[in-house]
Amino acid sequence: MIVVKFGGTSVGDTAAIERLAEIVRSRLARRPIVVVSAMGGATNALIAIAEQAAEGQLISAIRGVEALRARHLTTAEQLLGNAPQAREVMEELSATFDELASLAEALSVLGHATPRSKDAISAKGEMLSSLLVTAALSARGIPAEHVDATTVMITSDQFGKAEPRQERIAEASQRILRPLVERGAVPVLGGYIGSNEQGIVTTLGRGGSDYSASLFGAALGAEAIEIWTDVDGMLTADPRVVQGARLIDRIRFDEASELASFGAKVLHPSTITPAVRLGIPVYIYNSRNPAGTGTLITFDAPKRPVVALAGKQGVTVLRVRSPRMLLQHGFLRTLFEVFDRHRTSVDVVATSEVSVSVTIDDATHLDTLVVDLSHLGDVSVERNRGIVAIVGAGLTDSSESMSRALAALKSLRVHMLSLSASGINLTILVDGDQVSEAMRRLHAEFFTDAAA
Ligand code: ADP
Ligand code: ASP
Ligand code: MG
Repeated sequence: MIVVKFGGTSVGDTAAIERLAEIVRSRLARRPIVVVSAMGGATNALIAIAEQAAEGQLISAIRGVEALRARHLTTAEQLLGNAPQAREVMEELSATFDELASLAEALSVLGHATPRSKDAISAKGEMLSSLLVTAALSARGIPAEHVDATTVMITSDQFGKAEPRQERIAEASQRILRPLVERGAVPVLGGYIGSNEQGIVTTLGRGGSDYSASLFGAALGAEAIEIWTDVDGMLTADPRVVQGARLIDRIRFDEASELASFGAKVLHPSTITPAVRLGIPVYIYNSRNPAGTGTLITFDAPKRPVVALAGKQGVTVLRVRSPRMLLQHGFLRTLFEVFDRHRTSVDVVATSEVSVSVTIDDATHLDTLVVDLSHLGDVSVERNRGIVAIVGAGLTDSSESMSRALAALKSLRVHMLSLSASGINLTILVDGDQVSEAMRRLHAEFFTDAAA
């Protein structure tokens, strides 16, 4: 049994779904479970609908609903023509859009959207795409069966970024998905969406379909998880930032998860964890180039000093200066408890005799964090910073890579440096608007033939 997951661009239009069908067909002997994202751009459009409706711009919101309806129905018509599946799926899609329009109306009356109502709306993208893909597969002779992902992906109540309940998911996967696979069917589910114990719809956070695929794969002890996207695999840097980024054939789990959490959007940061526990290999392939060799993520990939770079902007730095307290027993614990209380995760930490600096990605709770931290010392905040991460399991085998990295940055200002405890990640804090330039300089240093 394998899990095959298709991202937004891989279900984005008729041609993409036709390619998906051929990829699934080529995997039938391996008993695939198909997980799909919403059609590319649909989740953004749905979130905009929720926000417009809540701000009372009902006409714009309904226009958004109708644009999505037209896109889905046109794609369904093109994919299904006169196939027997056409009528039923058109009715299901239409009913979902009617419900979406009613939700938008309700939000505009209420005048605000809660995380719960936003999830109810943004989850529709995967509900729609999974219905459409199921019908397209069965019209092409593949024994696909739609499974409502909210009946399998059981999560906490944290709307917008719900925590999967892995035992419940394992139980539901064994009860619902396994028998389907055993009788030769191909289950098709939406990624990203789930429900809490009461059956209320939740989502796993943006990009969460990868996470869904990995969770279902772990729940069923799949032989492999395949993430089908729009690039040839995991590359040495984000190809939108660095021209000439190269394909990585094999990468270690820990390296891939560091890259994902420092901005390599090709994988959701949590994807690897459920798979890694069970040693399930994860492959990344290009749905436009199914003959490609892709990237294999496993335990035992060769150890290289630098395997890839990642970068992100919009990072906030908090510095707490406390000459009196820093060395006192329990200070750091108290400091991190503040972040924990405000549900804010810390990415990079550096300490000196008199201060602690930490970076955060999510500044939603910044004001309250600053108030609480100021009980511990003088707090200063720097916004609009960026992080560049240099990742490689052999990074600390010699100091050469680190000195080359710093030399390559030349005149770029470095605000903070941190080597992860595991020694596989050197993070460099720069100005947010210099992340791309820093990535290009580092890439030229580590990945051009002359430098290799
Ligand atoms: P999907 O819709 O298939 O989930 P995403 O847009 O989430 O696709 O992720 C794929 C994108 O990730 C690529 O188009 C690429 O621009 C970006 N990306 C960022 N860093 C990397 C990297 N190191 N390797 C490959 N792709 C990357
Ligand atoms: N459709 C969701 C998003 O755009 C989840 C995903 O694609 O992974 O974030
Ligand atoms: Mg993605």
